Formats: sequence, C-alpha cells, structure tokens
Amino acid sequence: MNSIVIIGGGHAAAQLCVGLAEAGQGARVHLVCEEACEPYHRPPLSKAFLKSAEETTQLHKAADWYREAGITLHLGDAAVAIDREARTVTLRSGAVLPWERLVLATGTRARQMPDLKPGLENVASLRAANEAHRLRERLASAEKVTVLGGGFIGLEVAATAKALGKSVQVIESAPRLLGRAVSPELSAHVLATHRAAGIDIVLGAQTGAFEVEGDRLVSIQVNGVKQPVDLLLLGIGAVPETALAQAAGIECADGIVVDGHMQTSAAGVLAVGDCTRFPDRRAGRAL
Ligand SMILES: Cc1cc2nc3c(=O)[nH]c(=O)nc-3n(C[C@H](O)[C@H](O)[C@H](O)COP(=O)(O)OP(=O)(O)OC[C@H]3O[C@@H](n4cnc5c(N)ncnc54)[C@H](O)[C@@H]3O)c2cc1C
Repeated sequence: MNSIVIIGGGHAAAQLCVGLAEAGQGARVHLVCEEACEPYHRPPLSKAFLKSAEETTQLHKAADWYREAGITLHLGDAAVAIDREARTVTLRSGAVLPWERLVLATGTRARQMPDLKPGLENVASLRAANEAHRLRERLASAEKVTVLGGGFIGLEVAATAKALGKSVQVIESAPRLLGRAVSPELSAHVLATHRAAGIDIVLGAQTGAFEVEGDRLVSIQVNGVKQPVDLLLLGIGAVPETALAQAAGIECADGIVVDGHMQTSAAGVLAVGDCTRFPDRRAGRAL
C-alpha cells in the first residue's frame, strides 16, 4: 500500500517517472493513461509529423524502459474516480488502484467552439497523437485549410499546410497574432513572415453561422461573409483537464490549485504539468 499512482501520460508524467526511477522508486509507480501508447513528445505533432506519413510519434521512453524501472503501465484506461478516504483510484476498466501518493498529471484538452457540433468529419483539433494521425490524413486530400486561432498550434499547422502546397487561411479574433504570448513587435514579425509565405491572415475577425450538412461543416461566416470550408482546424487554445480533481472535491480554479511543492488541497494528492495552477511569488498571484 505504498504505491505512487500517476494519472496522465504526458510530458509531466513521463518526467516524473524518470525522476522516481532514478531515485530507485520505480517499483512503487503505477502510470494510468487514457491514451493507448507510452508517453510521447507532443511538440512534433504540429510540425514534422504532419509533413510526412513516414514520421512516427517520438516516445519519451520505450516500453522496455518502464519494465526495467519496475513501473506498471495502465495504458488505454482512464481514471474515472478518486476516493480520497479509501485512497484508491478507479479506472474505466473497473480496476481499483490503492495509493499512498497520488499525482494528477492530466494536462489540458483542446478548447471547442460552443456553437459547433462536435465530431464533424472535416473539423480537427490537435492535442493527441490520434488527432495528429487524422489531421495528417485529411491534409493529404484537402485543398484549402482554414485555421481558427492565431496561436502557436494554429500558426504551426498553417505553416506546415502551406509548405504542403495547400491554400491556407488563419482567422484570429484578436487584433494581433500570438497576442497572449509575445510582444506586439514579435506579433508583427510573425504576421509579416506568414503573409510573405502566402498565408491569408484575417485579424479582429468575427466568426459564426457554422453551416453543417450531414457530418461535414460546409461553410462559416467571417466578418459577415459566408465562405466554404474544406478542412477546418480549431486552434483556439487548451483548457486544463480538471474534471476528475473537481469530482473528488480538490480545489480547482482554471487548473488544479497547488502550492510551491505541487501539493493540492487534498492530503497525499499532488499535481504537476499543464493541469495545474500554481502561485507566482514574484507577482503575488496565481499563474
Ligand atoms: C501539437 C502540440 C504542439 C506543441 N508544441 C510545443 C512546443 O513546441 N513547445 C512547448 O514548449 N510546448 C509545446 N506544446 C505543449 C506541450 O506539449 C505541453 O505543455 C505538455 O504536453 C504538457 O504536458 P502535461 O504532461 O502536463 O500534459 P499533457 O501532455 O496534456 O498530457 C496529459 C495526459 O493525461 C491524459 N489524461 C487526462 N485525463 C486522464 C484521466 N482521467 N485518466 C487517464 N489519463 C488522463 C491525457 O490523455 C494525456 O495523455 C505543444 C502541444 C501540442 C498539443
């Protein structure tokens, strides 16, 4: 009953496994991930991976490494409930894992448009490897790619699609690209670079009137003008995956709230990575 259960199989979970293995604690570790493969690097998914069908996902560590470290993997199985009293986690498969320490590393999920029906055949998000596989397949046959959102992922996919010879449009509601991440000067430089590459960029755009036929999005309105859609990528940000923590009564505020030691509001439960909201001591506020 001295197990460390890690929920999530992204970068944070993979690095924690390495740290625990180096500390000789691997045999205590159970890693639970709803994705069916070992943790992999996400950054290549919006870059090289989309360009060539030869590209495969890059694992943090191969399956053998986890075995040798004594780490037990529960892949393709999501954690669905945390019992803080009994100190257990229940998985979708029905398995119940006891823990002495629980680490939430549930990351983020792609933000969706509230007025756009989910699951449309020609609308993509890009967060996980299975979505990258689908997007790569759709890119191969698309002539025009519309990217909703001028953030990092939207612009990377736009540049990749342009390099593949597609007609590409980026629609951004803010007055500048990467508005929350970089200075106005850098935004202007990125805008000029993308426009010089032949990407059509619409800033300060109002979008709506998503017209759906069957399982396809056929058109959207941009600044009141209807335009056809061949393939649409939603690049409108990510939201912390806090549902499991919230259901367990763990304090969340646009992320799982942690202190400087990554301790959550629940005894024995820590959280790491993009799912967290932690204190910024310099500014005296939560990041
Ligand atoms: C396409 C793309 C490109 C990127 N490029 C860059 C870049 O160039 N530079 C950069 O710094 N960052 C980049 N990022 C961001 C970077 O990948 C993230 O910051 C990082 O992945 C965060 O790691 P994480 O482990 O906190 O969460 P995530 O990587 O989001 O992993 C969370 C994992 O938890 C799993 N999970 C969630 N809930 C459950 C549950 N209940 N049970 C079981 N499993 C669960 C999810 O399926 C997922 O596998 C990129 C991200 C993407 C998607």
